[in-house]
Amino acid sequence: MVVILTGPPGAGKGTQAELLVDRLGFGKLSTGDALRRQIAQKTEIGRKAEGIMAAGNLVSDELLLEVLKAEFDKIEKDVILLDGYPRNLAQAQTLDGLGERYKVQAVVHIDVASGELVERLVDRRICSNCGVSYHLKFDPPADGVCRKCGSEVVQRPDDSQEKVINRLKVYEDATKPILDYYEGKGLYRRIDGVGTTEEVYKRISGILS
Ligand code: AMP
Repeated sequence: MVVILTGPPGAGKGTQAELLVDRLGFGKLSTGDALRRQIAQKTEIGRKAEGIMAAGNLVSDELLLEVLKAEFDKIEKDVILLDGYPRNLAQAQTLDGLGERYKVQAVVHIDVASGELVERLVDRRICSNCGVSYHLKFDPPADGVCRKCGSEVVQRPDDSQEKVINRLKVYEDATKPILDYYEGKGLYRRIDGVGTTEEVYKRISGILS
């Protein structure tokens, strides 16, 4: 079964998903991470997705369905956290048709006002290998390497100010409507995404446990 972590870019979905995996033993599937791996491995999917992602736009629903199913099959956990999927109504409806293993149990919306997000994202750095996030001011990587796996920490090409503004617009236009969709199904839970990582974690784990 599936728990969806949703919210605008920079809300902290990836960071919270990591903690939920480490502490509660959930499986995790980040479609953004999966696509970045495809790009690094220079696959056909990576080649098709690269330019679209760099511009901060959404990759096609067909490609995402392929990625979702392939990644899902690799995870041997009863509960899988989805970070980055669905990103529009069509994807939400597709997910509903995929069968029992993909059944959505809860949708946790990490809510952060857009004013704060631009700064969070422009100063964000991520591990080029495992995707762990850092922040230049609040959580800088020591010696520019990841404390989890020792790989180089870099800026995502879509974390420049211009791309971030586009990604926030895409979120408002395409992704936000899924909140009403899940509210209608009684699955929607909003939590305040402002606070320390631990404070936000407590709010989410309180809902899920
Ligand atoms: P993220 O790491 O979740 O911020 O995703 C980075 C980028 O990957 C997005 O801006 C999209 O270009 C692409 N992407 C990730 N998930 C999806 C999805 N479900 N649908 C379409 N594009 C996606």
